[in-house]
Amino acid sequence: MLSKPCHAACRASIWIAVLCSACGSDGDGAGPPTNPSSDAGTEASPDAPSDVALDQVGEAAPEAGPDAPLGPVELTVFHTSDEHGWLQPLVSSGIVYGGAANFFAQIKGDGFDPATDLLVSSGDNWTGPAITTLFQGKPMVDAFNYMGYAATAIGNHEFDFGVAVLSQRASESNYAYLGANLYDKGTDDRVAFARPYKIVRVQGIDVGLIGLTTPSTATATNPKLVADIDFENITETLESVVPEVRAAGAEVVLVLAHQDAYWMNQVAAELTVPVDGIFTGHDHGSLHEVVHGIPVVGSGWGLQGYSVTRFVYDPATEQTSFLDTRFEPVAYAESGSNPVTPDPGLLDLVDGWQAQLDTELGEEIGYTETGITMGWQEGNWVTDAWLWAFPDADVALQNFGGLRQPISPGVIKLEDVFGVMPFDNAIYELELTGAQLQEDLAIGTESCTMGGCYIAVGGITFSGTGSSVSVTLQGGAPLDLQATYRVLVNDYMYETGPYPLKAQDPTPIDLGVNFREPVVDWTRQLNTSPSDPLEAHIDSTPRNQ
Ligand SMILES: [Zn+2]
Repeated sequence: MLSKPCHAACRASIWIAVLCSACGSDGDGAGPPTNPSSDAGTEASPDAPSDVALDQVGEAAPEAGPDAPLGPVELTVFHTSDEHGWLQPLVSSGIVYGGAANFFAQIKGDGFDPATDLLVSSGDNWTGPAITTLFQGKPMVDAFNYMGYAATAIGNHEFDFGVAVLSQRASESNYAYLGANLYDKGTDDRVAFARPYKIVRVQGIDVGLIGLTTPSTATATNPKLVADIDFENITETLESVVPEVRAAGAEVVLVLAHQDAYWMNQVAAELTVPVDGIFTGHDHGSLHEVVHGIPVVGSGWGLQGYSVTRFVYDPATEQTSFLDTRFEPVAYAESGSNPVTPDPGLLDLVDGWQAQLDTELGEEIGYTETGITMGWQEGNWVTDAWLWAFPDADVALQNFGGLRQPISPGVIKLEDVFGVMPFDNAIYELELTGAQLQEDLAIGTESCTMGGCYIAVGGITFSGTGSSVSVTLQGGAPLDLQATYRVLVNDYMYETGPYPLKAQDPTPIDLGVNFREPVVDWTRQLNTSPSDPLEAHIDSTPRNQ
């Protein structure tokens, strides 16, 4: 069993958590899409791997599958991460990114053969556009099943709907949800809903896949959802699990880590047990490095790209060699033609879920001529909607990281607001003094010089950053440090920080509405149209001047 002290790497994880919780309802590398960044069916894929044994998890090597090879075998791994529910393509600035049917067609054209290759993920399969979020991740499980994924790490977003839903999703999958560093709180027992590793037989080779979850999940996810789980140190977990997987028969050991490449490079550098490859996630990056002979490979996000990594296993020497790796984007110019023919089965699957979504969230609630951009325009829309819905409140604060995508020009549907604000966050009302509010703004504006501020505000504006921030009330009066203000925040900010809201007001009022409801209600009653679009009603001015 693992011991669970908090050493340097653990403290490092806490540091990441502080960064992450400041920037998002999660802190992933969510950003603009251009950042290089019947029934819908659970039918088995016609392409499901025929000789990849799928169900031997955390146990001895599979008995099924092809016989052991006589000579060296080339093993090709197709990897994605942080798919975030992007089943449909994302169109931005004239580029069509991703789309599950395009992605799958492209990897097949790029040589992916489910009978001989591995397709794996480093987690955060869901939470994103409404097509996946409304159905709590189920459409992604269907798509992964169809494409023949062998395993995924459990990402922090896999907890967004609670452990019960995650367990349900795992039970619906033909692949494994892996989290070797997840333990029942305060015990040496691994959680019941995840398996630490899985051994699959590919071309006669037993490949061990180990999954890891970023320890920052403990604080970057709403703590209500993960209170019963310990997220253990990644290096210590590998030191313990790799020998376990080798002893269980794995000839090749690959790590699926829902953790940034920056940290996994360090893990690779300090590991004393042999792993053959590390596939990263959470940071949405697509670079790779070879550290102490171990390839550490990132594969982008949103099914907008993937990596192809090749190894050679020699049964005579029982050695695995890294051959090469490459990252391939899935994108084309909107003005051009799609370079691939979208996979028809996957297209049907996605269309089925889209039809169901349109039934539930297809209601048209407004119109925008220009689209609503991420940043202050979107933030002001949200915070002003809260203050419209709760006129007795003075101030509204919303972390920018919890607003996940822009609104495209044209008709605005319920599902669009759902995509912007996909989380099950409630609105809390707090009583804060002006001094406390100033303290929160100092924290929320600390990184304004790094390309934006962490925090959207309503009812106030501010100038300056950090400890020199100056707050002004709507109408121009200065903030009264002695006075008490009613402040609206989402419960994620309250529970997670980095703001000391819990200490400032230990008895918040839960207003009992999801944080997107006022946005929907306000937008709906504005009755916007092509001649009177939503942007005419939104204050688009930055509130940090
Ligand atoms: Zn993540």
